[in-house]
Amino acid sequence: MLRVVIVGGAGRMGQAMAQGLHELDDIAVVALVDVHPPREVGDAEYYPALADVSPQSVDVVVDFSIPSSVVLSADWCASHSKGLVIGTTGLDAEQRRLVEEAGVRTGIVMASNFSIGAVLSERFAAMAAPYFDRVEIIELHHDRKVDAPSGTALTTAQGIIAARQRAGRQSAPDPTQRETLAGTRGADAGDGVRIHAVRLPGLVAHQEVVMGGPGEGLTIRHDSYERTSFVQGVAVAVRHVNDQVGFIFGIERWVV
Ligand code: NAD
Repeated sequence: MLRVVIVGGAGRMGQAMAQGLHELDDIAVVALVDVHPPREVGDAEYYPALADVSPQSVDVVVDFSIPSSVVLSADWCASHSKGLVIGTTGLDAEQRRLVEEAGVRTGIVMASNFSIGAVLSERFAAMAAPYFDRVEIIELHHDRKVDAPSGTALTTAQGIIAARQRAGRQSAPDPTQRETLAGTRGADAGDGVRIHAVRLPGLVAHQEVVMGGPGEGLTIRHDSYERTSFVQGVAVAVRHVNDQVGFIFGIERWVV
C-alpha cells in the first residue's frame, strides 16, 4: 500500500484527489496538508504544514496547492527521500529551477495535466501540427483559475513547436497588422502559435487545438468535465515516482 500525503488538501483539486485516490486499492491517503482545515476524507489526518508530518508515515507527497508551497514540498521530499507528484501550475522560472534541483536528490514527477485524454490530445496535436499552415490554442477554464495561460496550453504549444521544427515546418505569417483592441489575437507562444484563454463559471478544464491548411481544418478538443478526470494520471505517477531519482515532466512514458 502506497501512503500518500496531499498538500493543498482542502482545495478543489486536493479534495477531488483525496476522494479519488482513497477509493483505489493500492493507495492510502494518510494526511491532508493545507493552511485551511479540509473536509475529512477517510482516516486522513490534517496538518497545517508538511513540516508537521512524520516522514516515516509517508511514501509519496502529492501537491495541488500554490507555487510557493510547491518549493517547500520539493525541499521536504528531497530532505526525506520521498517521491513528489506535482500538479500545481503557474511556477515561475526560479521556482521551477528549485524544484528541478530537488529532483537531483529524489524522484519528482510534474505534469501540467494529469488527465489521460489531455495527454493524448497533446500527442495528437503534435502529430498533426506539421501538416497545417497555422495552429491556435483556445484553453477554457473555471473562473477561479489564477494563472493564464494554462500549463496544459503552454505544454501543448511547446510540443507543437518542437514537432514543427523536427519536420522543418514553420507557421504561415500572421496577416494581422493592427490590433484595434490589444490582445485580441491572443498570446504568441512561439512560431506563431497563439493561445487564447477563456475563464467562465461552470467550466472545469477544456482545450481546443485548432489547425488550418488549404481548404481544410482540424480541431482536437479535450474536456475535463469533473476533477475526477485527473485521478487516474496522478495514481500512475504515484505508483512510479519512487522508481528513480530525478525530475520527470509529464506522464506520457507510463500512459501511451
Ligand atoms: P484551490 O485554490 O482550490 O486549492 C489550492 C489549495 O492550496 C487551497 O486549499 C489553499 O488553502 C492551499 N494552500 C495555499 N497555500 C498553501 C500552503 N502554503 N501549504 C498548503 N496548502 C496551501 O486550487 P485548485 O483548483 O485545487 O488548483 C490547485 C492547483 O492545481 C492549481 O495550480 C491548478 O492550476 C492546478 N491543477 C493542475 C491540474 C493538473 O492536472 N496538473 C489539474 C487541475 C488543476
